[in-house]
Order: sequence, then C-alpha cells, then structure tokens
Amino acid sequence: MRIDLHTHSSVSDGTDTPAVLVRRAHEAGLDVVAITDHDTADSWGEAEVAAGEVGITLIRGMEISTRLGRASVHLLAYLPDPTYPPLARALADVLEGRNDRVPAICAKLRAHGVELTEDDVRRRAGDAAATGRPHVADALIDAGVVASREEAFAAWLNPGRPAYIDRYAIPLEEAVSLVAAAGGVSVLAHPWGRSRGPTPEQIARLAGLGLAGLEVDHQDHPAPVRDELRGLADDLDLVATGSSDHHGLGKVDHDLGCNTTAPEELERLLHRAGDAASASGRTTPALLVP
Ligand code: AMP
Ligand code: ZN
Ligand code: FE
Ligand code: FE
Repeated sequence: MRIDLHTHSSVSDGTDTPAVLVRRAHEAGLDVVAITDHDTADSWGEAEVAAGEVGITLIRGMEISTRLGRASVHLLAYLPDPTYPPLARALADVLEGRNDRVPAICAKLRAHGVELTEDDVRRRAGDAAATGRPHVADALIDAGVVASREEAFAAWLNPGRPAYIDRYAIPLEEAVSLVAAAGGVSVLAHPWGRSRGPTPEQIARLAGLGLAGLEVDHQDHPAPVRDELRGLADDLDLVATGSSDHHGLGKVDHDLGCNTTAPEELERLLHRAGDAASASGRTTPALLVP
C-alpha cells in the first residue's frame, strides 16, 4: 500500500491538471494520493472524477499559507469542509493577497530593469486559483531571464532578494483551529525544511489546539532531521506522514511517491479526521474508495 499525502496541481503551482496528476499518481503505483493545492479546494472536483476513473483513493486536502510571528509556515489540511464560512473567508483573504502581490512583484522587477508585465505572469498562471511566485518564475524563464524556477527564487523571488514581496497568511494557531472547526485535520508541512519552523514547545502547543501530525519524510529534511521529527511526533502522539510535495515539472527531485506515509499512520489520521468531523458537526467530504 503506497500513500503520498502532499501534491500540487495547476490549480496552484503544480504543472499537471488535477486529472492528469491523479492519473500519474496511479501510474506511479500509488494506492492513495492527497491533492493539496495551496490555499484552495478548487482541484477537488476534477481530481475526484479522475480518481474514480482510474481506481485510486483520493484524499482531499490543501496546503494553507500561515504565519508564526514573522516566519511563513505551511499547514496541510485534510478533509476540512471548505465551505465552512470562517475557513472560506480566511482562504479568500490569502488568495486576494496572492493576487495583489503579482503586480507588486512585477513593479519591483521592472525597477531592476527586468521587463515583465502582470499579463506575462497571468498567462503562465493560466486559470490557477492560487497564483504564486512559481508562476512569476515561469514567466521569467519564458523571458530568458533565468533557466529554472530554482534560479528565479535564488536570484529574485526569495526573501531578501530584489523582487520579494510579502503577502497575507493566516496566523498559524488560528489556522489549526479553523481546520478543526471545519471538521478536518491539520499536519505541519516540512516543519524543519528550508527554514527551521516551529520549536518543539510551539508544536506541543499546536497539538493542544488540534494539530494532528507532522510531515516527517520530506525531501527538504535530511535524515537526522527526520529522526528528530519522528521522535517528537512519537512524544506528542502526533501522526508522522511522508510525502513527495510533487509539483509536476515545477520542482526537481520531488517525484510522486518519493516519500510515502505508512498505512497505520494514514489510518490514525483518518480516525482523527472522523473525530474532528463529529466534534465540529461539519460533514467531512466522503472518501472515494476504489
Ligand atoms: P508562494 O506560494 O508564492 O509564496 O511561493 C512559494 C512556493 O514556491 C512554495 O510553496 C513552493 O511550491 C515554491 N518554491 C519555493 N522555493 C522554490 C524553489 N527554490 N524552486 C521551485 N519552487 C519553489
Ligand atoms: Zn507550491
Ligand atoms: Fe510547502
Ligand atoms: Fe507543497
């Protein structure tokens, strides 16, 4: 049983449509795949139809942009009711911040002599519900300014680089509570990846607010970090997940199934989702079982 709980489609900054992503997940030998686009549930419908067709179990999720102090923290949410008004409003605020940022980034690029228009970026974003810096990166590749998304982030788009613009993200504790109130479960994405995220003390506090798990096996975590996180998950009775964070062609070395979640861990996660759904009274969207 192979389980991958973190993937992106073209509804955010992945390069495959939700249907293609789900088919590729099946071809990659996965039995269960979660679709977790940034800050939106817009991929769910299409992914669900494709999952039914190929016979893979789909778990509907999203990766929420949150903030802890000044640090950006990604929170995976599984099976929340996205129509729960407080969650829907908070996600709309994040998406608005993403949209407003595109012209601001372009203005900064132009101020540094890079001629890139908002339209160039929108064209690359297509009909993505969540626009992001990766779409700016793609437009920079088209314009011949950089050769890869990686280079675009390193040269222009990362914090401290010339075209960086901050945007709104939901306070982390509020996001954990919102997901629980929406009948879902949350898992900290790559908690100690590119930047060292919440401390063990902060994670313990989040567990008290309903945080269900930690993404332990992730490409941004070297082996010693994985060991440390697995130990912490154990101590705090949190679910330990492993996932690819696949972005299609948008991220190298993140192939579908390159990290996986143990079946017992998924079972614990779904059990907690069931508990959250009963406690909140929100209907958890049904799972598709082949
Ligand atoms: P944004 O959503 O606009 O804040 O952009 C952040 C997203 O860009 C992350 O969630 C990743 O999916 C992607 N990303 C961040 N750094 C890189 C990188 N160096 N190369 C490719 N994609 C990246
Ligand atoms: Zn992404
Ligand atoms: Fe992330
Ligand atoms: Fe991700």
